[in-house]
Amino acid sequence: MLKEVAEDFQEHLNYSSDTDARKGHKTSESSFFGYKTHIALSDERIITAAVITTGEKSDGKYLQELIEKSTQAGMKINTVIGDAAYSEKANIEYTKEEKIALVAKLNPILTQGPRKEEDKFEFNKDAGMFVCKAGHLATRKARTGKKGTSKSQSQTYYFDIEKCKVCPMREGCYKEGAKSKTYSVTIKSDTHAEQEAFQNTEAFKQLAANRYKVEAKNSELKNGHGYDKASTAGLFGMEIQGATTIFAVNLKRILKLLNENE
Ligand code: SF4
Repeated sequence: MLKEVAEDFQEHLNYSSDTDARKGHKTSESSFFGYKTHIALSDERIITAAVITTGEKSDGKYLQELIEKSTQAGMKINTVIGDAAYSEKANIEYTKEEKIALVAKLNPILTQGPRKEEDKFEFNKDAGMFVCKAGHLATRKARTGKKGTSKSQSQTYYFDIEKCKVCPMREGCYKEGAKSKTYSVTIKSDTHAEQEAFQNTEAFKQLAANRYKVEAKNSELKNGHGYDKASTAGLFGMEIQGATTIFAVNLKRILKLLNENE
């Protein structure tokens, strides 16, 4: 069918020759193939740090690196604003230690229990689902356990076993013949109480309103400077493209700020 459609529309489809690029998800229905650029932006809208990764990586894991790179570049940081991907427990603990206010809304709190690092699945906050090691999103989720008791609730994520049956990574993950493949996490409602209290303050809401700046910068990079498309294959090429594009965008901003000050 795909072949017919491609012929009808005279599309010239090719397999990607980029062996580094990976599939990532923006929502549970949409995906992209390529890379992610995680950026930190100052209040004056200058990009102070960037980390470029393959597409499947989750955003929240790069907060610490972005803060460290920004600090090395001379920034003094007392507040970090981000979306819910940045509110994972390790980030709350890190920013607390560094005396940085973390303005990032909490997701339902997720802990993955005593699993080995290599057995952990990544949480995709855009889709609200876990992604397995083979890169497949869970197809549905269900909550178990009662609210308001001392026992923790669990969230169970279900994966498509038709994919598991032919998955090259199924060993130790999917038992042959099993009727389902699930991944459960505990929801600890009191772990983030302090962050939750901060989230409800007026100060948090006012600061969170600045988040549009990073979206605007992303749009400038993509729509104004062709950053929505990788110009070469491979992670290294993407890093070069990222560095040069960000350099140009920052230079423009610096010149504008200088002009405004004159
Ligand atoms: S066996 Fe299933 S859940 Fe496990 S990695 Fe493969 S597709 Fe994903």
